[in-house]
Amino acid sequence: MAEAIRINDDTWRFEDDSVRFFLLCGTNKAALIDTGMNTPNAREMAEGLTALPIVLINTHADPDHISGNGAFEEFYMSPAEEDNYRHNGGRGKIIPVKEGDEIELGNRTLRIIDIPGHTPGSIAIMDEKYRVLISGDSVEDGNIFMFGPYRNIDLYIESLKHLLQYDGQFDEVYAMHGSIPVKPEIVGQLIEGAVQIKNKKVTGKRIDLWGKDVLLYKFPYAGFLLGMKEYKFYGWESADIKDGRGLTPRDYYDLLENIWAEDTCAPRLRKDWREDNKTLGQCSITAFIMQDIYGGKVYGIPRSGGTFHCFNDVDGCVFDLTSEQFKGEKLEYTGCPEQFREVHFAKEEKRLRYELLKERLEKVIVT
Ligand SMILES: [Zn+2]
Repeated sequence: MAEAIRINDDTWRFEDDSVRFFLLCGTNKAALIDTGMNTPNAREMAEGLTALPIVLINTHADPDHISGNGAFEEFYMSPAEEDNYRHNGGRGKIIPVKEGDEIELGNRTLRIIDIPGHTPGSIAIMDEKYRVLISGDSVEDGNIFMFGPYRNIDLYIESLKHLLQYDGQFDEVYAMHGSIPVKPEIVGQLIEGAVQIKNKKVTGKRIDLWGKDVLLYKFPYAGFLLGMKEYKFYGWESADIKDGRGLTPRDYYDLLENIWAEDTCAPRLRKDWREDNKTLGQCSITAFIMQDIYGGKVYGIPRSGGTFHCFNDVDGCVFDLTSEQFKGEKLEYTGCPEQFREVHFAKEEKRLRYELLKERLEKVIVT
């Protein structure tokens, strides 16, 4: 059950475990902003604090913000949030709101600002009377959830840039998580952080969140939680080693995915090379390039015709960037013979393909 704490004459915050929501009173009406995580009686609680009629505005529809929505037949919400709301079991009628809309409480105007990204229909609410921005989950100093469906970091960055246009119109930010209040300067800091994540300038720490692996990017001012991208190559989950540039084999896979081509495919397989089977015939040259980068050893799984499928072992970190070409086939990665570049590159043709791929890779590495 949430605890109600008075902020000033006509404003309350409700602390509901790790989430909060607000009650704002005007002279004619009161507005509940969100209804918390474990507070189905949010409306009742609000009615205990004010005799005014109460409207509900949702900053967004994640489950920790809508627990008391059931007590309202209708409520204000961005229509872009409807999918997320219904997906979370939300009922009732959405009164759509959008950028620039005003909700008048009587001597207290609330202005809607669209800030999609955390969710498709996230909104912020400007309380002009107190020069406060109520930011939902998008601007806060806790950990901002950016993993799973409905999240979009590009949109998030755009939305926060949009918020900068309101700079000077609010002195404090009231967020639904983290500290309260936070200073408006955090908006610019969050943009910086999110851009760094997007451009892979920083690396996240893998943590377990409710049994799910996510990446935590912790900055001094806040954190971001992002989903782990799922790869299909063998060993991707533990391919955490980094080179001098801070890149992991997963990062190299992302780069190689765009440059593996027909002309770097082994000639005997080239006729079968396809865009949707890019790793075909690229194994030894890829594994030796990875060895150039990380050291360690290259091993080969014996295949028919006396050939070997090459993969990397860097001090026990085993990964095979080109395993997808074998589709569902289970490969045996133990007890394989070591492979040596002198032997493989004795074939001039292969050495040239190795150099070609390596040159292309150098060109796409962004440092
Ligand atoms: Zn939340």
